[in-house]
Amino acid sequence: LNEMKNKHITVLGLGVTGLGIVRFLLSQGLTPNVVDSRQSPPGCDWLQQHAPNLTTQFGDLATAQLESADMIIISPGLSLTLPAVAQAMQAGVEVIGDIELFARLTDKPVVAVTGSNGKSTVVTLAYEVLKTAGYKVGLGGNIGTAALDLLADDFDVYVLELSSFQLDTMHSLKPVSATVLNVSEDHLDRYPSYQTYIDSKQTIYANAALAVVNKTDPATYTQTMPQLSFGLENADYCLMTYQGGSYFSYQGKALLPVSSLAVVGRHNQLNALAVMALLSPFDISASQFAQAFSQFTGLAHRCQFVTEQAGVKYFNDSKATNVGATIAAIESLAAQAKQLVVIAGGDAKGADLDSLKPYLQQQVKALICFGKDAKALVALTDKGHLTENMQQAVMLAKQLATVGDIVLLAPACASIDMYNNYMQRGDHFSQCVLAEAV
Ligand code: ADP
Repeated sequence: LNEMKNKHITVLGLGVTGLGIVRFLLSQGLTPNVVDSRQSPPGCDWLQQHAPNLTTQFGDLATAQLESADMIIISPGLSLTLPAVAQAMQAGVEVIGDIELFARLTDKPVVAVTGSNGKSTVVTLAYEVLKTAGYKVGLGGNIGTAALDLLADDFDVYVLELSSFQLDTMHSLKPVSATVLNVSEDHLDRYPSYQTYIDSKQTIYANAALAVVNKTDPATYTQTMPQLSFGLENADYCLMTYQGGSYFSYQGKALLPVSSLAVVGRHNQLNALAVMALLSPFDISASQFAQAFSQFTGLAHRCQFVTEQAGVKYFNDSKATNVGATIAAIESLAAQAKQLVVIAGGDAKGADLDSLKPYLQQQVKALICFGKDAKALVALTDKGHLTENMQQAVMLAKQLATVGDIVLLAPACASIDMYNNYMQRGDHFSQCVLAEAV
């Protein structure tokens, strides 16, 4: 930090993370410039009120003279390939993200998690287990609290959720354990190819003391040693039958019953196995795992039960913003339903939707779509229906579902074309479902 005091620092991109960076720098006596491509970015009111003396430049990035900074701290919402950013990097300006700054400022153990799906579930469950075992844990990154804000407290250990965008601007974090949970197509609107997206995720292993890989997903494999694998079978951490019951196990040794996990679905069992592998460097007993697993009832907007009406259950999985998550939701709920009615649509972010096809054929009675990429989704199946909006989609779902069915919102797309975020979309779904009971 002392080194930074003599530097011209620019925070690029305001919003939640950017504001977190600004607040942190101010608390350390540093006064950055703040630049954003929007005329009045979210958070500019806060700046005006609390730090009116900071130099700000809102609007066209081309005129922001980024190359005159010594260091740019960039928000994960902005791409390094933006011409103004690329130009500054070429001119020798150091460009880092908030996680890189965090990494330089702490020597506490960090558990680091990335992947296309399950990140928030895994980090929250890991946080709960560590807390149950008596550790003072800071949870943040791409979830909840910005990483830099965590530095204000004296934690024993940090659990960080990291997006690929955060990894792209981070290189000196040395996690005690790190995982790429899984990789499926996502964010292809920001990466030149699927491989570059995988490469970005893989950087989490670079300085890790322990790598945790998904046995069934070679895209998560690494050369980093030592390493542990998780999977439903044939992995270091996997399921096994023991005394007639299904158990979470480590290298052939039963640890705790799968029934101790309150959240349902195959994907959540995988998430629990990943948590056990990630936390293996810590001193945690099987009963502490079991206690935390049984108390964790899942996060909102992830396969969340909304209500039951006329024998039909409604589930909100608005956080299924890519194909992989929608497949996981269909697989886990199909086991409980006579048939599924799935509501999907929004912005597919350039993803190839074809891998959904087999799941739509087997387990789905109707696919009801709206939003930007609705047509492409409807084209995947002969059971597709095109509607204008959530309200129409829910109305149609109510007509089509019969006793024993499940209506599932699992969009396979981002919500950005019609909503502020996935939470607002999920809430709207629940409102529409509850508005007129059938
Ligand atoms: P992320 O933070 O990576 O977006 P979440 O835990 O918020 O992950 O879950 C996002 C979506 O992915 C949810 O819709 C959830 O049902 C689904 N999901 C959770 N875990 C997995 C997994 N291990 N594999 C595939 N999909 C998953």
